[in-house]
Order: sequence, then C-alpha cells, then structure tokens
Amino acid sequence: MANSAGTLPSVIDLHSHSDRSDGALSPSALIRRAADRGVRAIALTDHDTVDGMADAETEARLHGLQLVAGVEISVTWSGRTLHVVGLGIDPCHSALIEGLARVRGGRMQRARAMDARLHAAGISGVLNGALALAANPEMVSRTHFARHLVSIGACKDMGAAFRRYLGEGKPAYVRHTWASLPEAIDWIKSAGGVSVLAHPGRYGLRRARMQTLFAEFGRLGGAAVEVVSGSHTREQTRLVADLSIECGLLASAGSDFHGAEESWLDIGQLPSLPEGCMPVWHDARLALPH
Ligand code: AMP
Ligand code: MN
Ligand code: MN
Ligand code: MN
Repeated sequence: MANSAGTLPSVIDLHSHSDRSDGALSPSALIRRAADRGVRAIALTDHDTVDGMADAETEARLHGLQLVAGVEISVTWSGRTLHVVGLGIDPCHSALIEGLARVRGGRMQRARAMDARLHAAGISGVLNGALALAANPEMVSRTHFARHLVSIGACKDMGAAFRRYLGEGKPAYVRHTWASLPEAIDWIKSAGGVSVLAHPGRYGLRRARMQTLFAEFGRLGGAAVEVVSGSHTREQTRLVADLSIECGLLASAGSDFHGAEESWLDIGQLPSLPEGCMPVWHDARLALPH
C-alpha cells in the first residue's frame, strides 16, 4: 500500500471498544470483525481498562492481525470531560493499572446518582437494566444506560437517549471528576505508550480554545491528536488537521467503533488523513508498518 501521509498504510484503526468497557462485542469478536474487514493493525482502546487485551491478543494472533495495546482514559480538564487514548502501552504496568482502577472507582457511584435522576424523571430501574447489559459492572457507562433506555422504548435510539437524558446538561447528567490531564499522560508515558487526544472535535471548543488545549497537551508530553475519527464531521477533521500541523502534533485515525448499529464508522472504514498530517503510526514506539 502507499506510504504517503494521505493514505492509510494497509488498514490501520487506532480506536475501538469491546464489551470490557462500553462496546457491544467481546474482545475476540471485535478482532474477528476487524480481520473480516481486512484490517491489518487495530488498537483496542477500551475506556479506563485494559482487561480485554489478553483475549484480543490471542484472537489477533490467530488472524495474523497486529494488535496495538491501547486504552482510552477519561480526563477532566478545565471543567470538561476529555478522552486521552494511550497507544503501544504495556498493559501490565503498575502505575497505569493503579491509575485506571482509581478512574473506574467512581463509576458505580455516578451510575447510582444517574439512576436516581431518571427515577425522578419517571423512569425506574435503569441502573439494574444498564448493569444487566454491562459485561463488566465496574465499567458501567452512559452507553449502557442509553442501550437500556432504547430497549424499554423510552428513547428511539442511542442519540435520542443522550439528547434527552444523558448528555451534558440533560436531566440525568451527573458531573464527575476523572483523572487530570497530566496524570493520564504520565500513566501512558510510564507504561511506554504514546498519548493521543481523542476526537478533539467533540468537545465543543472553538479554534482558539482548541489551540490552547493542543499546546498544553504537547507541553505535558502528548504526542498526537485524532484527526480522523468516526465522530468527526469533515469540518472538524479539517480544523483538527490544521491545528495539529500548527502545534507540531502527530495525527491519529480511528473509527471509535462500539457496535454494529451504534457507530459512525465500521472498524477500518476510515477516510485518509488530510495532506500535511504526520501519521502517528510512523512513531517507532507503535512498531506499525509504514
Ligand atoms: P461515560 O464514560 O460513561 O460518560 O460514557 C461516555 C460514552 O458515551 C462515550 O464513550 C460514547 O461511547 C457514548 N456517547 C457519548 N455521547 C453519545 C451520543 N450522543 N450518542 C451515542 N453515544 C454517545
Ligand atoms: Mn464509549
Ligand atoms: Mn471517547
Ligand atoms: Mn472511544
């Protein structure tokens, strides 16, 4: 395959989820799906856990697919939630493992508070319903709440569940403090990985504010930003590409696949990086084909 910045070498997808966090597929089923679609290298980047890595690795070997060990850490920055993806991490590194355990620790308490708010809004038993859908109860997430709300007919689809109840500022939204940005980057760094700011287009930041974030992210040791993401519009991709080049950050690309009917893009179905971007997969720490 071509090796220019504008073309993905083979097929590389550096952002995906299994049911160890809020994805719909088991780690093995996710890897099988990637292999079926011709993906050559995939990063499993579950939210706040590396639990799925061993199963994913076993399955990846069977298919001759390269697995990049990854994670997507929930971060609170300047009063908002950001996601930082770590790529090429050692999933057994103690500082990372302990940090992730702490971040996961607050989820159940937040879920109870969300449940109480939904109860007050007239919908009962949502926490139990969400937990029934979560393979790992410690990782109960708004995605599980949304799936349950759709399954009982309270919302027509996942998007509606977030617009009506679960999104920021909506009746069941509960503020939560996750890891700090320096902590997340430090954990990833000590585990030998590369820090990537996930889907910067999703944070509602104007250009100047995004630039401030990128500069701070770079100063703290962040290496790349996700330019191509399943959740970006064309305009967001363009803006993030321009700012990544301006700030000297590498560019990543990932579908952010969660499940067949739920995701913007299927695994590996990614547009090319815009001209001028420097692909993160050229970073030697990821040991990916150029
Ligand atoms: P949590 O970490 O529990 O706050 O849940 C965040 C997750 O909710 C994200 O990782 C997405 O998978 C999902 N999510 C957020 N907004 C939406 C949306 N508008 N539609 C569908 N899923 C969403
Ligand atoms: Mn998610
Ligand atoms: Mn995310
Ligand atoms: Mn994600």
